Amino acid sequence: MKRFFYIFYSLLFIIVFSCSKKNILEEEIVVEPTLFSCVSYDTLLDPLTTKDDDLMQYWDIFVADVLCTKGAPDYGQQNTVVNIFFEYESDAAIAAGVTQSHIAYSSFDGYCNSAKVNVGVDWRSWTEMSLLKRLWVMYHEFGHDVYRYEHSPDPADIMYYSSTPGFIKINDFIEAKDRFIKRDFPGISYISCPSDFSDDISNEYEDYHICSLHPPDFLDEY
Ligand SMILES: [Zn+2]
Repeated sequence: MKRFFYIFYSLLFIIVFSCSKKNILEEEIVVEPTLFSCVSYDTLLDPLTTKDDDLMQYWDIFVADVLCTKGAPDYGQQNTVVNIFFEYESDAAIAAGVTQSHIAYSSFDGYCNSAKVNVGVDWRSWTEMSLLKRLWVMYHEFGHDVYRYEHSPDPADIMYYSSTPGFIKINDFIEAKDRFIKRDFPGISYISCPSDFSDDISNEYEDYHICSLHPPDFLDEY
């Protein structure tokens, strides 16, 4: 009888153990399906197809994204001057331990001029970002420049003032960019621009929307 119980409990243990192991395996292979987006980000998110030093590929996808999500406007046609460029730290600054505190910025003559895009990206920060984060950051800058969006206090928004909160997934991006393109997110607000904006004003006046890697506590100055 004792022997019977021994065998019985051994079998029970094996069954329970193998079932729980199966559950773990099943959980591991569940992959969240990617949400629908009318443009594909695959080329930007694949290290084999993206080009590290090509910022225009983000502009092209963004322009197509707005068109297929909302039908208009065509920001590719509307913006006759598109300056999207890297900034490099000087050797002297690197040697002195002085590093850029921002990852990217949009300037006054870009966001207050509906025919011009002017976005600078810090090269060193760029090389340290994941491909998904790069995509998020570029949409954030286009948000300043094209939509004149201010920073949002909501970490789920593309316009959140730090680059991105912690770990993001492609579906977080797709949900956020849909709200962003439809001008429909709770933290929405707009940069005010002079009503008499002209190239003369933009030559005299310097202002930037600086987007930082620092946590929010250090962002009061912005
Ligand atoms: Zn910003």
